[in-house]
Amino acid sequence: MQRPYNFSAGPAAIPEEVLQRAAAEMLDWHGSGMSVMEMSHRGKEFLSIYEAAEAGLRSLLAVPQHFKILFMQGGGLAENAIVPLNLSRAAGVDFVVTGSWSQKSQKEARKYASEVNIVASGESSGFTTLPDPASWTPSVGASYLHICSNETINGIEFHELPDLKALGSDAPLVIDFSSHVASRPVDWSRVGLAFGGAQKNLGPAGLTIVVVREDLIGQALPACPSAFDYKLVAENHSMFNTPPTWGIYMAGLTFDWLARQSEGSARGIAAMELRNIAKAELLYGAIDNSDLYLNKVAANCRSRMNVPFFLRDESLNDAFLAGARERGLLQLKGHKSVGGMRASIYNAMPLAGVQALVDYLREFEKTRA
Ligand code: PMP
Repeated sequence: MQRPYNFSAGPAAIPEEVLQRAAAEMLDWHGSGMSVMEMSHRGKEFLSIYEAAEAGLRSLLAVPQHFKILFMQGGGLAENAIVPLNLSRAAGVDFVVTGSWSQKSQKEARKYASEVNIVASGESSGFTTLPDPASWTPSVGASYLHICSNETINGIEFHELPDLKALGSDAPLVIDFSSHVASRPVDWSRVGLAFGGAQKNLGPAGLTIVVVREDLIGQALPACPSAFDYKLVAENHSMFNTPPTWGIYMAGLTFDWLARQSEGSARGIAAMELRNIAKAELLYGAIDNSDLYLNKVAANCRSRMNVPFFLRDESLNDAFLAGARERGLLQLKGHKSVGGMRASIYNAMPLAGVQALVDYLREFEKTRA
């Protein structure tokens, strides 16, 4: 039986192979007599799972050795506080606001940083464009500059990370890559710290990934909770407190799955990027070539992961969603702050799933014409 296609923005679809393997190993992981959920995080069984997951992510995303990979809890929103607690040195910090998530991040940082400078904002466009990095003027002496590299709600993505050095800034770039991690390669030469919740592209909710350049570790404010102090977390190999063991295991299975993906001669993340480009082109193409559907985001910054769209006749919304559900196309309702529809097409969504959605878009438009 084929499972429905799930377009949830997160927690989101997980590759079926990963779910099947987790199901097969649920009661007895590799002859240990235990479920992964029942293991001590300090036992040799879980340590092997942890080490494989860390190595898997490092290899997949080509994370250089001078970056630490931390497996934490708290999600993206907790990192909005944890990052300034660790990196701000109570000095000024810079933000580029490109949608709901970076907006939330800058608000939270105000609790910890002496000053929050909004270096650029897409607000006047209704968050449908990305302010051109060439127009940003980073503050002198800022502890870091934060961007959300993929705005899950607004459907905006930086297709290239900004080069802060070229803008005359030495500040490390902090990226919230929650909703497009592992969908394409990361240019680590431009990044100081990247964080993201796992529940979109890497596994279940509960695991937060932090990849941080070593020289940025060890300057936490005294008020920083110990369990969130990157230095303590790094020194203890993410086991200062009990890590989210199930999430780490599931992410490890997902890294394995990702490493095995191929498109032509491309493997792993390079293959995923090609597939994600093809999926996004197919869906945006169908939206742009219709008289019923509309996506408002400028073409150069449309997200490959989250595609918000509207029906020009909004009275059809309920009928559209009901018809989608009948065809096994789930969770297409847009975020409540934006309305309309949103199709999240993360790594686990195959091209066939996007094709099924496109077929339905056309069919629905025809019957309503
Ligand atoms: N940042 C981004 C880009 C997100 O998409 C989300 C969740 N949708 C968050 C942060 C918040 O993550 P969490 O709910 O795990 O705190």
